[in-house]
Amino acid sequence: MRRLLPAAAILAAIAIVPAIAQFGPQPIAAAVVPFRVGAIEVASLRDAGFAAPNNGEVFALGIDPATVAKALTDGGGRGDRIELGVGGLLVRLPGHPTIIDTGLGTGMGGKLAESVARAGLKPEDITDIFISHSHFDHVGGTLTAAGGLAFPNATIHMHAAEWAFLQSQSANAKLAAALAPKVKTFTAAGEILPGLSALPNPGHTPGHSTYRVSSQGQTLRTLGDTAHSHILSLGHPEWNAAYDTDKPAGAAARRATLAELAASGERVFAPHFPWPSVGTVVVKGEGFAWVPDAGVKAP
Ligand SMILES: [Zn+2]
Repeated sequence: MRRLLPAAAILAAIAIVPAIAQFGPQPIAAAVVPFRVGAIEVASLRDAGFAAPNNGEVFALGIDPATVAKALTDGGGRGDRIELGVGGLLVRLPGHPTIIDTGLGTGMGGKLAESVARAGLKPEDITDIFISHSHFDHVGGTLTAAGGLAFPNATIHMHAAEWAFLQSQSANAKLAAALAPKVKTFTAAGEILPGLSALPNPGHTPGHSTYRVSSQGQTLRTLGDTAHSHILSLGHPEWNAAYDTDKPAGAAARRATLAELAASGERVFAPHFPWPSVGTVVVKGEGFAWVPDAGVKAP
């Protein structure tokens, strides 16, 4: 039951709620959209939103904002800002409830842990976490707001080059110390758990990796930050984000992976694309376009 508050109390509550930042993480309600890959139950887990200004300094780095605004509005977005989702994927592998990418973490207002609870799982039920790369909006949810392990029984898998990259950043000292006893690295493409394979595509970061869920002839590829904006990253894969560690390699990996996905028609989970972030990539002009999966929709 929701208690009804008198009007004065509601006004007082509004007054102490901090204003939502115009840019950066945007709070959003927890949510889960389940679907299947063959016999494996998976679910898109919502964590947050994210907004960046169209100023040539974050996404579409160095590109004239008027050119970017036209691409954004032609793609159905707002011209003055780049809006992303943030999410993760729950993969109910037999005996191994797994999460691929963990969002921002509750300390930054991320709701992924709450979305996991809505999927009927307790934090200690999760046995494995796979990290695409070590940026805060993918690895942040491995920790609680207090700095402890959010999923205490989970082995945390990532590419060895990504673990080295994470540890090399002084700002990550506490994160690295907390994760160290749980991290298990891999160095090449291949199956890590039955039904789950790693496909590294370094560029955005040194050990950036995509993953593939496979069952009964069906597959789902997780994209990590191979692409950020479904409008800009697909329409103009040559446009770098400030977050691309190696910009030529980031752009090359983006175009190569998108071309591969458009050729194969493989189903994709892209954690920054519009909720629930499942669809396919098609060729469009010199670039690509996103086709949301009609069978995986928010309720
Ligand atoms: Zn990201």
